[in-house]
Amino acid sequence: MTTSANVRVRFAPSPTGPLHIGGVRTALYNYLFARQHGGQFVFRIEDTDSNRFVPGAEQYILESFRWLGIDFDEGVSFGGDKGPYRQSERRHIYKQYVQQLLDSGKAYIAFDTPEELSAAREAVPNFQYDASTRMKMRNSLSLSKDETERLIREGANYVVRFLIEPGEDVVVHDLIRGDVHINSRVLDDKVLYKAADELPTYHLANIVDDHLMQISHVIRGEEWLPSAPLHVLLYRAFGWEDTMPQFAHLPLLLKPDGKGKLSKRDGDRLGFPVFPLEWKDPATGEVSRGYREDGYLPEAVINFLALLGWNPGTEQELLSLQELVEQFDLSKCSKAGAKFDYVKAAWFNHEYILKKSDAELLPAFTSLLSANSVEATDEQALAVLGMMKGRVNFVKELWPLCKFFFVAPTEYDEKTVRKRWKEYSPTQMNELKELLSSLDDFSIESQEAAVHAWIEAKEYKMGDVMNAWRLTLVGEGKGPGMFEISAFLGKAETLKRMKKAIAELP
Ligand code: GLU
Repeated sequence: MTTSANVRVRFAPSPTGPLHIGGVRTALYNYLFARQHGGQFVFRIEDTDSNRFVPGAEQYILESFRWLGIDFDEGVSFGGDKGPYRQSERRHIYKQYVQQLLDSGKAYIAFDTPEELSAAREAVPNFQYDASTRMKMRNSLSLSKDETERLIREGANYVVRFLIEPGEDVVVHDLIRGDVHINSRVLDDKVLYKAADELPTYHLANIVDDHLMQISHVIRGEEWLPSAPLHVLLYRAFGWEDTMPQFAHLPLLLKPDGKGKLSKRDGDRLGFPVFPLEWKDPATGEVSRGYREDGYLPEAVINFLALLGWNPGTEQELLSLQELVEQFDLSKCSKAGAKFDYVKAAWFNHEYILKKSDAELLPAFTSLLSANSVEATDEQALAVLGMMKGRVNFVKELWPLCKFFFVAPTEYDEKTVRKRWKEYSPTQMNELKELLSSLDDFSIESQEAAVHAWIEAKEYKMGDVMNAWRLTLVGEGKGPGMFEISAFLGKAETLKRMKKAIAELP
């Protein structure tokens, strides 16, 4: 178990587009871990690859977390004393550390042009820039010192590569996977820095920043596991082994219907979002749907994601953020990938709609009504929410179910008419109409007492009366209890709808 002191974790996205739902899960696990240990959660932007920079992505990511209620203690837009937290603003810092590696002989300068590199790849099967090939390439190890200096002086383009010694057993201690061993022979001399844009690559910037920002645990997706041995070697090269963070590589999110990584295409194919918020691609204008715009409650998304790769070890499925903070356990995360069960996501939303008070759901419901040109008082909207919210997974699904409360039926469902409208129905409905119009008190209880007494006296069948009555008020065979409906509509509207139905139905 980790001691609570000095827990510092970070979420470090590259602003290359909208945040994938898997990234949201990674951030959530970091957040839960930080809060559980009373530690800090840092938001860092890893934007050293300017070719992949997408405008608006950083704002999108921040807005996603605001919506979800995941908050940070430090970082881009949050402040803190270990900034700047945007890597493109830290060039001067990285340069110093690149120099340190060059000076200590742990890294070297390489001049190979893209053409030379592809020629090498063609000549040598499975070419890798490493101990077996580097002396045949153009770099500060294969060239003389004078030649190297001359090339730099003349402005030749170069990169700095990490010098990997082969035959070393590199161990990544992973809190989820245990010790992962790798022989350094399989690693290549990774590029750490590019002179052309004066920026480090992901690996160097990531390690330097985790060190300087005093990150205690690196919790990230499984796709970063192959980079971890290199990161361990970098810590060693800098002499920072003692403060190296602990690693935890989270299980992949898998396709709902098979093996393989969850992709945006799965969402398009099966009809669910893979992004927290709607995203409009600034280059193509293509719009991708988001959980927020699809009508998910943030609490439901959090609960659903928390259980993709971890569970509390009990039957409990509904966990508040506070309960998640208390119960989350990094060491109990699964190694195997987690199937993305989007049907379950809708179930969670249903459960969270039930947990919400009618007042909390009111704004969403009111805008749904306005979008359908219905003007309702808050009192009316609240009454309908109370009757109907238990029937849906999403607030927007309430419209087809609730329309009749606000708009009188203009037609009557044929099947229901055939089944429920008997030859004696007009007589019964006329009698019922008379009875209701005689009532001064139109409350549920008052109507119920009067209608039941009348049905008994006439020896009618309860079902016959109620089904026909429903058809007159709703236009079809569904909906909540009849007295709830008539009480909501009020006497005048109830009688008006009955009169119209009696006149129009056969
Ligand atoms: N910038 C990387 C990303 O986009 C960070 C990976 C890490 O957490 O080390 O996910």
